[in-house]
Amino acid sequence: MSRPKSVERLIENFARLPGVGPKTSERLTYFLLRSDPNVARSLVEAIETARASTRVCSQCFNLDESDPCTVCSDASRDRGLMLVVEDPRDVSAFEESGFRGIYHVLQGRVSSLEGIGLGDLTLSALHRRLAAEVPREIVLATNPDLEGEGTAQLLLEQLASYGASITRIARGIPAGATITQVSKSILADAIDGRRPLA
Ligand SMILES: [Zn+2]
Repeated sequence: MSRPKSVERLIENFARLPGVGPKTSERLTYFLLRSDPNVARSLVEAIETARASTRVCSQCFNLDESDPCTVCSDASRDRGLMLVVEDPRDVSAFEESGFRGIYHVLQGRVSSLEGIGLGDLTLSALHRRLAAEVPREIVLATNPDLEGEGTAQLLLEQLASYGASITRIARGIPAGATITQVSKSILADAIDGRRPLA
C-alpha cells in the first residue's frame, strides 16, 4: 500500500536531517500524525522562531540571538585568550565548562574526504581579527580526531607568524568522542592541560 503524498513528503523532509535514517524518519512522522495537534504546532513554531531569531556573530561566527554575540559583547571576557573551535556547538560545550576567554568558530574542519579545505572555513576572517588585535594565546580546540588534528596542524602553520603563543587542548578526551559529547569537567581539564605548539 502506498502512503498518502503528504505523509511521504514529511518522511522525506525528516530524512534530510543529519543522523536521521529512513526508519527514524518514518517513526517521527507517524508519531507527529498520531500525537496531539499541539505537539506538531509547537515543533513548527519552535523551528521557525529559532531560525528567525538566531544569527551568526560577525566577529567570532558563533550562533546567537545578537550580533555581536553574548560572548563578544561581554566586557568581562579575557580577550587575550582565544579558543578556536569547529562549531557553535563546541562554544556551548566550552561555555558549560567555565571557559572565560573569547572564541573563533571555524564553521567546519579541513576534510579531504568531504572536499573541505582551509578556504571553506572562516580563516580569512580570523586573519582579519588577528591583524586588528593579537591575543596572547590562541588555543586550538578542534576535535581530537584525525581531521581535527589535521586542521590544528594547518592552523598552526597559518597563525605562527602573529607572535601569539599557540597551544592545543590536552588529549583527555576519549578516542572517538567529540567535544560536544564529553562532560564539562573533561573539557575544563582539556583546557587546563593545554600544551604549547609554538
Ligand atoms: Zn561573537
